[in-house]
Amino acid sequence: MKAALLVEPRKIEIRDLPVPMPREGEVLVRVREAGICGTDFAKYRGDLGGNFPVVAGHEAVGEIASLGPGVTGMRIGERVAIQPNFACGQCETCRSGRENICPHRVRLGLDVNGVFAEYVTAPRKYVWKVPEGLSDSAAALTEPLSVALHGFQKCTPVSGDRVLVYGTGTIGLFYVRLAVLSGARVTAFNPSAPRLEVARKLGATETFRSTTELEAKKGDFTVIYETSGAANALAHIIPWSAPGARLLLTGLPEKDSPIPAALIARKELLIQGAMTYRDEFGAALALLQKGEIRSELFITNIYPLDKLPEALAGFRSPHRIKDLIRIS
Ligand SMILES: [Zn+2]
Ligand SMILES: [Zn+2]
Repeated sequence: MKAALLVEPRKIEIRDLPVPMPREGEVLVRVREAGICGTDFAKYRGDLGGNFPVVAGHEAVGEIASLGPGVTGMRIGERVAIQPNFACGQCETCRSGRENICPHRVRLGLDVNGVFAEYVTAPRKYVWKVPEGLSDSAAALTEPLSVALHGFQKCTPVSGDRVLVYGTGTIGLFYVRLAVLSGARVTAFNPSAPRLEVARKLGATETFRSTTELEAKKGDFTVIYETSGAANALAHIIPWSAPGARLLLTGLPEKDSPIPAALIARKELLIQGAMTYRDEFGAALALLQKGEIRSELFITNIYPLDKLPEALAGFRSPHRIKDLIRIS
């Protein structure tokens, strides 16, 4: 099969690799479209360390090509979205129902070969049927939308909340949309103008490009979604939060920075982390099918597999939101 192998940091080669064999309880998926994510970019740059060579990529929609021993409830040709973090299912964290933070989880595209290839294997329990009528490109958004849904369920705005979404990459824009759909008044912050334009199309009432402008709203926001992963994000959003505000952290900073801890106590802030997803894929697929997410505003470019290096080179472009690779 054709695969984009990340041989070492910043070096991708299109190689012919053997088609993987599905083991007990696994399915073989023929990848149709795959999304490019910040994690892939970090892996490409060598920031995540770990194993090389590896086929990166974890956001995919495809069709079932074959079934491993013992697999039921799936048939060949069926379209599926892959949930790409495979928990051990045995440890205390898994047994408490929090498989998403299982310390032993296997991550597709990082720990094992991922979806920038014609075929990939996944456990049957981690593939979700894609509803009829939902396009491949929209279905390829299931994984990042599930990330946003997971955090949104931990920190859902109620009537009267003033929401700030800090950072408007794909996940941030999903938070904008989810908060707008819940009826909240939404402000979005991002230094790049094109992404704020999308935030407004998704229903944000106010957008800001500079932190100095946002200073005027200090103490105003009752719910804040931190999606940027910027090292100084907390130093900004803690002073901007209203007394009793709820803050949801989903961006992963490259390095940690000091936080204004006294303000957390004085304002009785509630700070919640959110990591990937547990069982949000079904809800994400249903939302995408309803069309309310406006997935068409998220998809910027679609490249063939051998253009993956070019696609990654453009990752920082402010005009890009979600780029996809079309494989078959
Ligand atoms: Zn991702
Ligand atoms: Zn576990």
